[in-house]
Amino acid sequence: MITAYIALGSNLGDSRALLGSALAAMDRLADTRLVDVSPTYRSTAVGPGKQRDYLNLVARLETGLDAGKLLAQLQRIEADHGRQRREHWGPRTLDLDILLYGDATISTEALQVPHPRMAERNFVLYPLTDLAADLVLPCGTPLQRWRSACSDAGLEALGDTIEPGR
Ligand code: ATP
Ligand code: CA
Ligand code: CA
Repeated sequence: MITAYIALGSNLGDSRALLGSALAAMDRLADTRLVDVSPTYRSTAVGPGKQRDYLNLVARLETGLDAGKLLAQLQRIEADHGRQRREHWGPRTLDLDILLYGDATISTEALQVPHPRMAERNFVLYPLTDLAADLVLPCGTPLQRWRSACSDAGLEALGDTIEPGR
């Protein structure tokens, strides 16, 4: 089994319910178990136009799926939760990004792991550090180094954890 970290975000619809349902859907994947869920954060949306704030969190999975299969399943869960692909970085009901897949470094057109923009995203680094403070990235950098270099501007810890829902 591989330990994978998934970033979840939502800024459209009933974000809390969508995130809870997405957690449950990941736990139901073949050969996969939801092991831990970070506290919830609110973040200012980056992207075109005026958008609602995001709710963000990170989940830790144990999975026997290979990374490509895991990505395909996460995209199916996004679609099941009303995700529509319109404009780049537009508002979405659910975004599931693979941050880390064990110690793997993957660089294909469809999949880059570690997620190439995670180092600059406080809404990813903060909840990931909550789950895995001592984590070392595949490049050898301690996660704490990225997180201390990343401003918390626009980020608020809500102080709760969303439970997997139905
Ligand atoms: P960003 O990647 O900057 O967070 P986004 O989440 O809005 O942007 P999407 O439209 O959700 O981007 O996804 C675009 C494509 O990114 C997907 O079709 C997928 O093939 C690709 N992709 C590459 N690496 C990853 C990854 N680590 N996790 C999820 N998708 C990835
Ligand atoms: Ca994303
Ligand atoms: Ca995505």
